Amino acid sequence: MTLYIKNAVYIDWESLFFKNTDIMVEKGAKGKIEFFDAIPPEKDLQVLDAKGRFVTKSFGCGHHHIYSTLARGMPAPAKNPENFLEILKYIWWNLDKNLDLEMIKASALASAVYCAKNGVTFVIDHHSSPLCIQGSLQTIKHAFDQIGISHLLCYECSDRNGHKISEQGLAETKNYLSQQGNQGHVGLHASFTVKDDLLGKAVELAGRYNTGIHIHTAEDMADEKACLKDYGKRVIHRLKDAGVLDLPKTILSHCIHLDKSEAKLLKASKVWVAQNIESNLNNRVGIADYSQYGSNIILGTDGMHSDMLRSAKQAFFSGQQKEKIDFLQIYKRFRNIHNYIEASGFSGDSDNNLIVLDYNSPTEMTKENFLGHFIYGIDSIHVNDVISSGSLIVKDKKLISSDEDEILTFARQMGRRLWKKLK
Ligand SMILES: [Zn+2]
Repeated sequence: MTLYIKNAVYIDWESLFFKNTDIMVEKGAKGKIEFFDAIPPEKDLQVLDAKGRFVTKSFGCGHHHIYSTLARGMPAPAKNPENFLEILKYIWWNLDKNLDLEMIKASALASAVYCAKNGVTFVIDHHSSPLCIQGSLQTIKHAFDQIGISHLLCYECSDRNGHKISEQGLAETKNYLSQQGNQGHVGLHASFTVKDDLLGKAVELAGRYNTGIHIHTAEDMADEKACLKDYGKRVIHRLKDAGVLDLPKTILSHCIHLDKSEAKLLKASKVWVAQNIESNLNNRVGIADYSQYGSNIILGTDGMHSDMLRSAKQAFFSGQQKEKIDFLQIYKRFRNIHNYIEASGFSGDSDNNLIVLDYNSPTEMTKENFLGHFIYGIDSIHVNDVISSGSLIVKDKKLISSDEDEILTFARQMGRRLWKKLK
């Protein structure tokens, strides 16, 4: 049944043009929208009354880790981490090794619920579960599909657990990408845990499946130091020499510690950079001036949460300090994921991905001052209804595509089981 939104104030996400209109929303990964003045007769329609609320394009997350969902409130690590490498060693590389398929399913379902309720209908995920690799991507895919969130997945291959496990990562990637309808990247953890053999195989695989590499890049100075020590060059130079920068669908996450030569290479390439400011602040790894990397910047959460409006605001406030970023620049960065998806030819982010905002402001919102409301007014709490690929998945702030309570009960069970396994 086709969805029909009546009494909407539609905000075009690119032109910021406001229009009082009804909207016909076609279903499907490539569905369109059409504007009407009144409900057309003799149509089989599902009508959603926006009651004069704002309707605009939904959001996307450029770098997520569903595998960290069950970490919220988990027991303290064996040692209090004193630097970035210890954060990985004592927290994330302990957690990811204890995940099984049921826990991955719970993590993906719960993450997808939060994405839906925050108006995030497209997620680019980077997954790690080194002792449970086979079937992990398909498990995440099914969970996202159940909630109705479009996705671009990858498994983060790494040599940190030995050659056999890095080969399993490549096999999972190949198996996933070779199946009809699946879209994803070839994932790599980071330069400092990826040897040349794995890097070469990953680039070859990405080329074969017409996709890009998704890798953490210079998140901490330790990544640069290891690269200089082991390969006699900095990370971006190593990635360039391996062919990673020749793949325009590539996403380099973080890029905090690049020098001028690396920034120049990045700016001259067609690859994309994902900024994850809250994670960088949390890990104390530093803050970058992304304006020096060109315009292919997107925003992610690094698995900390699924609220892209929150990420945009934090990137704005930190960016004010670091790069004097203005309202329009941060809005463009926030919306750039749509350009990435379109330029890369991925599906699931057409015009039929929409949110209805219950934003009852004390001041008028217009085309001219929209960006001020975007930074200081509009929050995820205002997301009232969410339409993903033409289907209503959140109505009146309640998930309707699945049973939220059941999913969160299951997630808590899996969380308890995971925490018991952590040493
Ligand atoms: Zn990450």
